[in-house]
Amino acid sequence: MRKLFIAGNWKMNLLRSSSQELLAKLKGSLAAIDQVDIAVCPPAVYLSDIAQVLAGSNIGLGAQNVYSQPEGAFTGEVSCAMLLDVGCRYVILGHSERRAIFGETDALVNEKLKAVLAAGLTPIVCVGETLQEREAARTLEVVGSQCRGSLAGLSLDHMEQTVLAYEPVWAIGTGKTATPAQAEEVHAEIRNLLATMFSPAVAQKVIIQYGGSVKPDGVADILSQPNIDGGLVGGASLKADQFISIIEQAAKIKK
Ligand code: PEP
Repeated sequence: MRKLFIAGNWKMNLLRSSSQELLAKLKGSLAAIDQVDIAVCPPAVYLSDIAQVLAGSNIGLGAQNVYSQPEGAFTGEVSCAMLLDVGCRYVILGHSERRAIFGETDALVNEKLKAVLAAGLTPIVCVGETLQEREAARTLEVVGSQCRGSLAGLSLDHMEQTVLAYEPVWAIGTGKTATPAQAEEVHAEIRNLLATMFSPAVAQKVIIQYGGSVKPDGVADILSQPNIDGGLVGGASLKADQFISIIEQAAKIKK
């Protein structure tokens, strides 16, 4: 039985005061929810402060990126040990914005993933096709190849601890959500691939989130799909009422 997991990716949004207001509302409204795992992923500079605000709550803390090396001359980067040191539990890897804007490849995501798992953090590895790839009927090929490249060489234990997020690029920040059937098709295919690459038992345990314009409207249908185990939420995670509604709806879903 997989527990639904909803994570908010704040991207490069909110300053100290607006994030404190948002967190106060989330803490107040979500305290009684234990049917769903919850996390927020703020910009790196605020992680330390926010860890203190979230201490003792049921909202986990995640980073949006990390570097693979333990320390050294890597200007602008942060390490896994630093994320752990400030109280992070999760880290998003290979988000499509990092792939498209910062040139991250599957090989780099794989390197980061191994460092994250070795450090004991929980990675959220993103995969997803562009509109052009979907229109060329290449969705499963592209997502399969991203999974093979990003997850290469993981042990069964490490695969089990890895969260995946299927995020069709054409649905991110565009207001276009994949239909429940479109999303479920890809999630099921990813799970089949995990069964082949690792084992059927591991594949059944891996949490696969959906991401791409997740909003309160329609989220229950998406999260009710058999192979969809939660959401990675961008824009709607910046609005307390929307993020709370998504999590409350998730808490009511029985699978
Ligand atoms: C994301 O940032 O991972 C995302 C899915 O964004 P949005 O919900 O805004 O489409």
